[in-house]
Amino acid sequence: MISNEQFKILLGLPDIEIERIEFEGKNTVNIFVASTKDGGHCHRCGKPIDNCYGVGQEIRLRHLPIFGYKTYIVIRPKRYQCQTCDQEPTTTQQLDWYTPKSPFTKAFEREVMRSLINSTIQDVSHKLDLGPDAIEGILDRTVDAAVDWKKIQSIKVIGIDEIALKKGHRDFVTIISSYVEDELIVLGILVNRTKAIVLEFFRSIPKRLRKTVEFVCSDLYQGFIGAAKAVFGKRVAVCADRFHVAKLYREALEVLRKKEMRRLQKELSKLNYNSLENVLWIVRKPFDELTADERRILNRLFDFSPKLRQAYELCNSLTSILNAPLSKGQGKRKIKGWIQRVINSKLTCFNRFLKTLEGHMEEITNYFIGRKNSGFVEGLNNKIKVLKRRCYGITNHRRLFQRVYLDLHGYAMFA
Ligand SMILES: [Zn+2]
Repeated sequence: MISNEQFKILLGLPDIEIERIEFEGKNTVNIFVASTKDGGHCHRCGKPIDNCYGVGQEIRLRHLPIFGYKTYIVIRPKRYQCQTCDQEPTTTQQLDWYTPKSPFTKAFEREVMRSLINSTIQDVSHKLDLGPDAIEGILDRTVDAAVDWKKIQSIKVIGIDEIALKKGHRDFVTIISSYVEDELIVLGILVNRTKAIVLEFFRSIPKRLRKTVEFVCSDLYQGFIGAAKAVFGKRVAVCADRFHVAKLYREALEVLRKKEMRRLQKELSKLNYNSLENVLWIVRKPFDELTADERRILNRLFDFSPKLRQAYELCNSLTSILNAPLSKGQGKRKIKGWIQRVINSKLTCFNRFLKTLEGHMEEITNYFIGRKNSGFVEGLNNKIKVLKRRCYGITNHRRLFQRVYLDLHGYAMFA
């Protein structure tokens, strides 16, 4: 038999005694409790008060389920009167396990927040049988809709990335994030990606924090780079995100592959052409992950198209350069050597990429410094990728901030 004391432990609520338990319908239980704590603080003067003034209105708070029962805690909070203040005002006692005006216990609110990590509001609404409005209320009480600069001591790295909220590359939002004390945090979500808006946000960072910024990681979008340089000046290293760089040279390879496949379709026998099936995926896969079969297919393709072999090998060698633990100077020399090899190869597919490379040599080679000085770039990119899917379709700016915040901090919040 479970004792009253044991049951209180299971409820996890301090300063109460259980008066009675009532079942309601098939799956709801109401647990009536009373406060065992004495006194409180006057809401006007703040002094301790212990002059009893009866009990207040009954409140009913949803709590964590017990054995699958929807569980409510019902309490009539104690009231106290202040004898120091004029007109002797009364104050309702507040216990630690609920927030005034919330229809839930704090434990239940925490449970809702935990459920929201990696889930949408709709998912949680179904699972917990709780209206979306109630969930949004909890979200608003728990997660701010903007960063609190006062809580931040210094910002070493700032990351800028963009997310399309709708298909067709419209409705971009910009996510500004940072590593603060080894934790990824979101500093801001901007409703657009223009230079002016990014600039305005950077200027809203308090001066004391602006001075602490050492790196800004961004794609090669001129608006972002320009805004970072204008606000943080030359002192800050703007680093190109290597994944964005890789995307550019991989795209060049892809264009050549398509062109070559069209040529081979015309020139090769049907048998030979069909033997190149799946080559699209094989070219995209990292070389060291290819099976023996896939390598054979790749080699057959390259025998038919030496140009494609050259381009493929150039792509892989640039990836190796970016992977290597080089200093900025070493990285720059290696990349210049790579550019020379591309020029010597007479391949034209990289022409546009070479222009980008030459135009952004500083930002691209700053990546080598940035990586050495913080593990920021890699981790951020992966997290943002996952986020992109969940942010899709959220049009409310406040919700979006909370979404990103929760997904980046979620598990840390409850650790
Ligand atoms: Zn008072």
